[in-house]
Amino acid sequence: MIQSYKKNPTLSDSYDAIIIGSGMGSLATAAVLSKAKKRVLVLERHYTAGGFTHIFKRKGFEWDVGIHYIGEVQKPTSVIRKVFDYITDSKLKWADMGEVYDKIIVGEKNYDFVKGVENFKNKMKAYFPEEKEAIDAYVGLVFEAVSKGQGFYMDKALPPLVSKLFGRRMRNPFYKFSDQTTYDVLKSITDNEELIKVLTGQYGDYGLPPKQSSFYMHATVARHYFSGGNFPVGGSSQIANTVDQVIERAGGTILISAVVDEIIVKQNKAIGVKMADGKTLLAPTIISGAGIINTYSKLLPAEVFHKFQLQQNLTKIKRSVAHACLYLGLEGSPKDLGLPKTNYWIYPEDLDHDAAVDNYLQDISNEFPVVYISFPSAKDPDWANRYPNKSTIDIITLLPYEIFDKWEDTKWMKRGEAYESIKENITNRLLEVLYKHVPNAKGKIVHQELSTPLTTKHFVNYDEGEIYGLDHSPDRFRQRFLKPRTPIKNLYLTGQDIVTAGVAAALFSGVITASAITGKNIIGKIMKR
Ligand SMILES: Cc1cc2nc3c(=O)[nH]c(=O)nc-3n(C[C@H](O)[C@H](O)[C@H](O)COP(=O)(O)OP(=O)(O)OC[C@H]3O[C@@H](n4cnc5c(N)ncnc54)[C@H](O)[C@@H]3O)c2cc1C
Repeated sequence: MIQSYKKNPTLSDSYDAIIIGSGMGSLATAAVLSKAKKRVLVLERHYTAGGFTHIFKRKGFEWDVGIHYIGEVQKPTSVIRKVFDYITDSKLKWADMGEVYDKIIVGEKNYDFVKGVENFKNKMKAYFPEEKEAIDAYVGLVFEAVSKGQGFYMDKALPPLVSKLFGRRMRNPFYKFSDQTTYDVLKSITDNEELIKVLTGQYGDYGLPPKQSSFYMHATVARHYFSGGNFPVGGSSQIANTVDQVIERAGGTILISAVVDEIIVKQNKAIGVKMADGKTLLAPTIISGAGIINTYSKLLPAEVFHKFQLQQNLTKIKRSVAHACLYLGLEGSPKDLGLPKTNYWIYPEDLDHDAAVDNYLQDISNEFPVVYISFPSAKDPDWANRYPNKSTIDIITLLPYEIFDKWEDTKWMKRGEAYESIKENITNRLLEVLYKHVPNAKGKIVHQELSTPLTTKHFVNYDEGEIYGLDHSPDRFRQRFLKPRTPIKNLYLTGQDIVTAGVAAALFSGVITASAITGKNIIGKIMKR
C-alpha cells in the first residue's frame, strides 16, 4: 500500500519529476526543483522518509540512524548552511556540540579534536610537541586538497560537450590528492605512527582505514569538522519534515512505503516508474537516489542494462563496509548520567588502523578495530522536552556482511537463535567497551537493540548492508560515470554515490543533480541570497 508522508495525500495527475528514495540527496534535489516551481513526487520504500537521516522509535525512545554530527553549519554564511537554509526555508536549526567534537582514544591515551582550526593545531602540537611542522603541513594539505574538489564537482554538473572541452582542466588538480592514499600523504610529512593514527582517528566517518582510503576523502571529512560538530535541533527527522513543507508547497509529495520496482525506459528514454503494487507513474524526469548499484542492476530493465553495458561501470566500483549499531535507551537525563556531547572513537593500542581492521576481518572474535560511541540525546537541546528523564547512546563498529549472508532470506526480527546468539555476543562486547569509558551507563540501560548489516539491507536497501554506499578508495574518484547524468535520457542519479558519503556531501549531490537537470548555476544562486 502506498501511503503519504503526510496523513491525507492528494496525489496530482502529473508530476514534473519522480525521485526514487528520500535520502538527503533526493530530498535536496526535490527541494531545489520545488523552488523552481516543479511538482516533484518522492517515492520512498521505507515506512518513513529521510534515508539514513531517518529516526526510529521504540519503547518510548527515539534514535537517529545516520547522523551523529555535521560540520560547517554554525555560521549562516557557510555554503553548507546556506544550502540547508535554502532547502528548508531556514526552518532547520542546529545545536553546537561544544569545544570537543571527537575524542580519539588509543589504549589509555585520549586526544581531543577541538573546534577551530588554530585550536586544533595547537592541541595536536601540545600532544606531539616534536611534530609541530608536520601538523602545520598536514592542515595545509587538508585545505589544499579540499579546495581542489570545487572544480571536480562542478565538472559533474556540466553538459557532456562543455565537460569534454574544459573538464580535464577542472579535474586534474584534484586527482593529485584523490589518487594518493591517506597513509601515503601523512607518511610523506611524518614518520610518527602515533600521530598518523590519531590524525586518521575519524576514518570510521568514511569507512576505509588510511592505507586504503583516498586522501581527498580523509581531507574533506577532517576539514568539515574543523569548525566543530552540530546536531539538528529536534533530531534528524527535522530534515525530512522541513524539506517536506517546501516540496508540498510547490504541489509535490513524499510518499512512504512506496517501493519502486522498475524504471520504465522507452526508446532509450526514462519515462516513469513501475511500483511494486503494479501501479505505473509517469514523469518527464526520473531521478534515482537509491544508490548506483541498485539503480543500474535492479531498477533498470535487463535489456537496458545490457544495451548500455552498465555492468562495465559496476565492475569498477566496490561497496563500502557494513556495520553494526547498538542502540541503547537509558533511564535518566543526559545531564543526570553525565553523558557528553563529544563522540568517542576507541582504538586498539598496539596495531595501526589497517592492521587492526585486517586482524578483525580474519576473525571477528579479535578486538574490534574501532568502536564509536555517540550520545545523540546529549546533543539535542530539544530532547528533554520530548523525552524527559531519558537518554540514548549509539555504539557502532564494523561488521562484515558475509557473517550474516546465510540469513539473508529470513525476515526481520525472525532470523532464529544462531543469528540472535551472534548479536548477543557482539552486544556484550560493545557494552564492555561502553562501561569502561562511560561507567555511569551501568545499571541504567532499559532498552538495547543491535542492528546488523541485514538490518541496513532491510530498511535502506543496500544489498550487502553497506554503511556508506561505495568505498572511498583512490580509484572511486577516477570513475567519471559517478555523476548525475546517465546514458539513459531523462534518467539522473543523486545521493552519496555521485559525490561521497556524508550528509553534507549528499546535500550537495542534490544541488549538482538539480543543476544538471535545469542547466542553472544553483549554487551561485543560493550563495547570492
Ligand atoms: C550509521 C551511520 C552513521 C552516519 N553518521 C553520519 C554523521 O554523523 N554525519 C554525516 O554527515 N553522515 C553520516 N552518515 C552518512 C550519511 O548518513 C549518508 O552518507 C547520507 O545520508 C546518504 O544519503 P543519500 O542521499 O545517498 O541516501 P540514503 O540515505 O542512502 O537513502 C537512500 C534511500 O533510497 C531508498 N530506496 C532504495 N531503493 C528504493 C526503491 N526501490 N524504491 C523506493 N525507495 C528506495 C532507501 O530506502 C533509502 O531511504 C552515517 C551513515 C550511517 C549508516
